[in-house]
Amino acid sequence: FGQLSESQAQLRAKARALAEGRFADRAAEIDRSEAYPHDNVEALRAAGFMGMTIPTAYGGPGRSLFDAVLVIEEIARQCGVTARIVVEANMGALGAILAYGNEEQRRRAADAVLAGDKPAICITEPEAGSAATAMTTTAVRTGGRYLLNGRKHWITGGGISRLHLIFARVVEGGEDRGIGGFIAYRGEDQGLVTGAREPAMGLRGLPETEVLFQDLELGEERLLRPEGGLRHGFAALMRAYNAQRVGAATVALGIAAGAFDRALAYAQERRQFGRPIAEFQGLQWMLADMDTGLSAARALVHKAAVRAGDGFPDAREAAQAKILAAETAVKVTNEALQIHGAAGYSRNLPLERMLRDARMFTIGGGTAQMLRNQVAGTLLGRKLPQGMAAETHRDTPASG
Ligand code: FAD
Repeated sequence: FGQLSESQAQLRAKARALAEGRFADRAAEIDRSEAYPHDNVEALRAAGFMGMTIPTAYGGPGRSLFDAVLVIEEIARQCGVTARIVVEANMGALGAILAYGNEEQRRRAADAVLAGDKPAICITEPEAGSAATAMTTTAVRTGGRYLLNGRKHWITGGGISRLHLIFARVVEGGEDRGIGGFIAYRGEDQGLVTGAREPAMGLRGLPETEVLFQDLELGEERLLRPEGGLRHGFAALMRAYNAQRVGAATVALGIAAGAFDRALAYAQERRQFGRPIAEFQGLQWMLADMDTGLSAARALVHKAAVRAGDGFPDAREAAQAKILAAETAVKVTNEALQIHGAAGYSRNLPLERMLRDARMFTIGGGTAQMLRNQVAGTLLGRKLPQGMAAETHRDTPASG
C-alpha cells in the first residue's frame, strides 16, 4: 500500500527497536510464568504506544489505525502478548468509546489508557459465543440507574483491566430495548467481579477469565449511546469492533512473520548431508509458500487499515484480513517449527510458543467460520440468519 511516510518509517523503526531490545528476551518468561507483563506495559506507555489512536484533544498523539498496525506487527514478531495489549489499548473498547461516547466518557477512557490501562471488552457468555446476540446479561433500568446481572467468560485481561466495556440487554419498563454497551471501572464499581481463569493454550501472559456482574449498579452516564439508539446499539458496537479485528489480524501476521524470519535464518545455518538445509528444494518451496502467504495477509491487513482512515474498517475487509492472517499464521508458525526439526519442538526456542500463540486467532474475536458467514452475507447482499427461526437472532452474530 504505497510508501510509508517518513514519520511512519520512524515509528516502525522505533517499535522494532523496542520489541527487539526489550520484549524479545522476556517473551519466554512471560509464557512460562503466565504473568501479565506490567514492565512491558510501562515501556509501551513510555514509547507512546498505549492510546496512540487517541486524538490530541484527549491527550493522545492522534495516530491512525494504520500507524497502530505498523507498531503491532513489529511487537508481535517478538511477543504476541505484548502486541495484543497494544491492540486493546488502541482499538476495541477504546475505539467504541471514542466513537460513541460523550465528552466525559471519552476523557476518562483516554486518561485510563494513557496511564497504562488495557481495557477489557465483555461480549461472550457461556451460552452465547458465536451467537452473541443470545446474550442474557441484563441491564435493568430503575430510576436513572442500571442494574447489571450476568456472567461473561473468556474476557481478556479479567482481573487486570480497569476499564470494561460490557455488552448487555437493556430492559426498560419491563421491555427488552436491545443490546447496549456499559462502561465500568474495576476497583471503583461494586459488583464487577473477576471469576475463574481459563488455562489457555497460548498468549499466557494475558489472563482470560470469567467476569461476573452481581447487582453492578451504573448511572445513566455509563451507557454508550451510538447514533440510531439502542435498537441499533449492537450493530454500532460491532462496527467499532472491526478495528479490533484488524488489530488481531496484525498480531497473527506479526507472530507468523517472526517465526518465518527465524526459519529463514535457521535454514541457511543448519547443515545436514554436508550442505545448508536451505539447499533442499523441499524446504525452499515451504519458505516460498510461507512468504507468499504472509505477503497476501499483510496486503489485506494494510488495505483494511489504510482504507479505514480516521473511521472504522469496512466489515468485509476486516473479516477477510482476519481470516487470511489467522489461518496463514497457524500454517506459517507450524512450518517454521518443522524447518527447525527437534530444535523447533524444544521450549528452548520460541517456535513452539509462537505456534501456540498463533492458534487463537481463528477463534477469538469472531471465528473463521463466522467471519466467512459475514463475508458471504455481504457478497450475497443479505443477512444470513443462522438460527432455526430468523426472529431468534435479530442482529448479525459473529462476535467476541
Ligand atoms: P462456539 O460459538 O460454540 O463455536 C464452536 C464452533 O462452531 C466454532 O468452530 C464455530 O466457528 C462454529 N460455529 C458456530 N456457529 C456457526 C455458524 N453459524 N456457522 C458455522 N460455524 C459455526 N470474548 C469477549 O467477549 N471478550 C474477550 O476479550 C475475548 N477474548 C478471547 C480471547 C481468547 C484467547 C479466546 C479463545 C476467545 C476470546 N473471546 C472473547 C471469546 C471469543 O470471541 C469466542 O470464543 C468466539 O466468539 C466463539 O465462541 P465460542 O467459543 O463459544 O464458540
